[in-house]
Amino acid sequence: MASNPKPDKSHKIKMMEEQLAKKLNRQVVGSLVGCVHCGMCHESCHYVLSHPDDPKMTPSYKADQLRKLFKANHDWTGRFFPWWVGAKNRALTDDDLENLKDIAFGTCTNCRRCTFNCPMGVDTATLNRIMRGLLSHVGVMPEGVRVVSKDQWELGNQMGVLKEDYIDTLEWMSEELEEDLGHDEAKIPLNKKGAKIAYAINPREVKYDPRTIKEAALIFWAAGEDWTMTDEGWDNTNFGLFSGDDQLGGACGKRVYDAVAEVGAKKLVISECGHGYRSTRCEGVNWAGVDVDFEMESSVMTMINYIKEGKIKVDKSRNSELVTFHDSCNNARSCGFYEEPRELLNMVCENFVEMTPNRAENFCCTGGGGAMSMSEYTPRRLVSAKVKADQISNTGAKIVVTSCHNCVDGLADLIKHYELGCDVKQLVDLVANALVLPTEKKAGEVVEEMVPKSTGVAEPLAGRKVLVVDDEEDVRTFLVTLFEDAGATVIEAADGDTAIEIAQREKPDLISLDISMPGKDGVETFCEIRKTAGIEATPVCIVTGHPEFRKVIYDREVPPPEGYLEKPVDEDKLIAYASHIIETSKK
Ligand code: SF4
Ligand code: SF4
Repeated sequence: MASNPKPDKSHKIKMMEEQLAKKLNRQVVGSLVGCVHCGMCHESCHYVLSHPDDPKMTPSYKADQLRKLFKANHDWTGRFFPWWVGAKNRALTDDDLENLKDIAFGTCTNCRRCTFNCPMGVDTATLNRIMRGLLSHVGVMPEGVRVVSKDQWELGNQMGVLKEDYIDTLEWMSEELEEDLGHDEAKIPLNKKGAKIAYAINPREVKYDPRTIKEAALIFWAAGEDWTMTDEGWDNTNFGLFSGDDQLGGACGKRVYDAVAEVGAKKLVISECGHGYRSTRCEGVNWAGVDVDFEMESSVMTMINYIKEGKIKVDKSRNSELVTFHDSCNNARSCGFYEEPRELLNMVCENFVEMTPNRAENFCCTGGGGAMSMSEYTPRRLVSAKVKADQISNTGAKIVVTSCHNCVDGLADLIKHYELGCDVKQLVDLVANALVLPTEKKAGEVVEEMVPKSTGVAEPLAGRKVLVVDDEEDVRTFLVTLFEDAGATVIEAADGDTAIEIAQREKPDLISLDISMPGKDGVETFCEIRKTAGIEATPVCIVTGHPEFRKVIYDREVPPPEGYLEKPVDEDKLIAYASHIIETSKK
């Protein structure tokens, strides 16, 4: 009987093998040949812990997929006796690539916890990144990775933020800061030549959380810093780290370095983002093949130094709730940034409890490695998040602090999924909250003053139509009155189905949407709005009493809401925010 013919090697596999040859250096080859399959790393992986009966989740199995390609091409035993070294059943066809994609992108967040538990020093995460890079090289990657990479190549930031929206958001935050503080100089400087510090941020801050930009600006202002933001190269994140594409990694890094050089800053301060810090400070110069003549530091260090040097004063009693700290994998395991966040935390909050394990042994937020952009793996990601959920709930803390925007989203998602009832904050939030300004009359006032008190216009929503959706009649009445007083024409709905029907008929300029409603809740209503022709682009502001719902929509395959506010809402802030959302959405 004739045996099955061996399938021909596909063109894409040949291209991947050629690409692999370019990636081989001492560190990579060491990890490729060093694994003795002892299994000591296996239980360090959150995917193994959540799928204990699936050997395909083990770090060694994942890395073996790359080892097979390596051994078949670069190891004489593999070339002559592929069956002997396990290279016989390596990927050969384009169909095999789907399986490799699932392994490399869907079963590993490149967290490097296994690396720290390997006695042979095997860096499985680096091998996994190489496999991602080989797949990306031949166009095989999750759609989310493709979209985000394209945005970062084309627009220079990974969230597709247009330049005018970025500038508009900075101006908005700048105006609020000026108004809050009552100082003309309290502005966010843009492209200021000769500034001492250039500040680069995560685009998530512009798109979903501009509050953190204002908080950083407040701290810079309080410290009397000579700083600036730039209108190019402002994104400190780098999807090249996640996709394995070193060319994208180099292009992203160079954009930032060029922007700093253009304004002539002496130092680049990188806002709280684990992979942004690792890529920009540690990897980007290598990927880009450039030298830079300015310093780079995390904003965590900047804030510590301001306190130590007496440039800012803080009152830690303002952060009195029990908090715990989550180490970002990129900050901690990849950059050794363990003690600095804790030092700052102890300066600005009263009650801090460690989660166990922590530092190098901490578990990933399970949204790392670009996982939040790959919605097809969300169910598996959330199963793997159980260990992280247990770590958090065991602390008893209601606030999880992290120094990474990506971790904020990963943690918020698992907190919602496992109903932990916690909030997630960053160090900048705590420092801004603890900040004691010279003009303060008594502790606590600045917090109130941070909230915008007025848009400065009598009827900022005149000529606008707002749909208020909330199941509680008294809340509806309150919101309707506020919007009407601001000049808007207001319509209302008590449930999701009615809201969609009214929105289709009335075409409002803004929908104010509650989350917790009986029947079709706010999340389902929102997703349906986004998928309904004619109203899919209507700006939506989530107004919710459940802060943990703020990021609930991020993993849905729909564009996110234009804004969210927590109940109870500040009246003037709601109107200012609604007005801003409508204005920016028109562009
Ligand atoms: S990667 Fe290291 S710890 Fe894991 S199986 Fe291989 S040798 Fe053992
Ligand atoms: S890098 Fe992290 S997610 Fe990937 S295999 Fe190792 S422990 Fe698991």
